[in-house]
Amino acid sequence: MTRRILIAGNWKMNLRLAASLELVDALKSEAAAVANVDIAVCPPSVYIQPIAVALKGTNIGVGAQNAYFEKDGAFTGEVGMEMLHDVGCQYVILGHSERRNILGESSEQVNLKTHAALAAGLIPIVCVGELLREREAGQTENVVRRQFDGSFSGDIENLVIAYEPIWAIGTGKVATPDQAEEVHLAIRKMIEKNYDKGVAEAVRIQYGGSVNDKNAREILAKPNVDGALVGGASLKVESFMGIIKSA
Ligand code: PEP
Repeated sequence: MTRRILIAGNWKMNLRLAASLELVDALKSEAAAVANVDIAVCPPSVYIQPIAVALKGTNIGVGAQNAYFEKDGAFTGEVGMEMLHDVGCQYVILGHSERRNILGESSEQVNLKTHAALAAGLIPIVCVGELLREREAGQTENVVRRQFDGSFSGDIENLVIAYEPIWAIGTGKVATPDQAEEVHLAIRKMIEKNYDKGVAEAVRIQYGGSVNDKNAREILAKPNVDGALVGGASLKVESFMGIIKSA
């Protein structure tokens, strides 16, 4: 089975509308000839609609960085999955470590959000990953398994998992291609154990953590690495396109 590489840019809480539109305008012409990679940008939710309009008919999809699991109702400040779909979103990042660690999001909430995203027709990009002290204590696989078991239930064939070691996010300390491959393979085995080989072969597993245009090629060449979730390097056309062209 060949899984299509997915390169997604997580803009986090960066840029303003004019700069965002300038970035996607440059990206859409640079990326127009790319046929072998799925591409997405994930702006702050307030900018999703204008960016989705700007990217309509191009080969660049749009994702959100979070959303709530309830459909409608008295949930002040939240945005629902159907609302995202309604304004042209195709993806939603869920359980990013910044949300788990800064905003106290639990795997149980991530699981509810994953179900809600799939039900609304979105592709969830669900993040898992260990802290440095957990890696140093030899706990990487246990931590990822706990997050995996807590964050997923039901049909997962259409979701994307992003393995993001927390010590590599925004630090410039990228995992080695072998470190990434080892965890990606372990995740694929977890999927096979909980589901079956077909599902394990279908689910895309991205790597995230200080990916840039210099280190992407080697990481993306690993057999179980099916793309990258990119933070800092997705904010500049040259570095984001460099990663896309490395695939
Ligand atoms: C991220 O935020 O998902 C991420 C991987 O960030 P960075 O690429 O900046 O490490």
